[in-house]
Amino acid sequence: MARRRQIYEGKAKILYEGPEPGTLIQYFKDDATAFNAQKKGTINGKGVLNNRISEHVFTLLGGIGIPTHFIRRLNMREQLIRQVEIVPIEVVVRNVVAGSLSKRLGIEEGTPLPRTIVEYYYKDDALGDPMVTDEHILAFGWANQEELHDMADMAIRVNDFLSGLFAGIGIRLVDFKLEFGRIWDNDYGRIILADEISPDGCRLWDIQSGEKLDKDRFRRDLGGEVEAYQEVARRLGLFPEGPDSAVLDLESHRKLRGK
Ligand code: UDP
Repeated sequence: MARRRQIYEGKAKILYEGPEPGTLIQYFKDDATAFNAQKKGTINGKGVLNNRISEHVFTLLGGIGIPTHFIRRLNMREQLIRQVEIVPIEVVVRNVVAGSLSKRLGIEEGTPLPRTIVEYYYKDDALGDPMVTDEHILAFGWANQEELHDMADMAIRVNDFLSGLFAGIGIRLVDFKLEFGRIWDNDYGRIILADEISPDGCRLWDIQSGEKLDKDRFRRDLGGEVEAYQEVARRLGLFPEGPDSAVLDLESHRKLRGK
């Protein structure tokens, strides 16, 4: 069988040509990077977990009317998606001070924000994804006014929905990153949610203990990355199939709690 054509390889995913025009296959790797790829590693099983978690979240978002690139999951590590023209902007939504915001402004991590903040970063690894404003986005034509409005509007709707979803399973949605893409209907471009939503691009803290259930475990060498991702999947009600699935076992529970 001819090897299918690889379109793009990123840090955590590979995109292959899809079965029909306008589709792609998104493959989730176990590779993890942080600090603009200065720190590299592997989290065994992460790809499987992120594929399933992202499928679940995108399906729920589709259900509340957010247009997404997700079509269906194909297997443990792959999903069929719509091909989009990626908008070169990372949209970050914050509810609680953490990470770069904490560092930049010297505000203690964990401080709740009086209102949700939406930030934009220009996607450019060589530049380290610099923060930009809507002025830059419009001036350099990375998105137009209508697209920018649609992205901000969807980001807030996603935040409202996901904050509630995670609160219901004892998790605080601290912040997260979204990426959007453009699809073309004749000459008319439309913005849809793309990429993935998983613990790789979200900060998720256990509401009771404050325990981090996201990629900060890798970034900050806390250990127990897989167990944390498994815990998120478990609370979302995913992988209920039994011992072969990614359900947390007792050993993993112990590791996660550092005992
Ligand atoms: N984030 C991401 N990819 C990036 C930068 C940030 O997914 O290239 C996510 C990150 O996981 C966090 C949120 O966006 O949930 C805000 O990240 P922050 O700006 O605090 O940067 P960091 O501290 O991760 O460098």
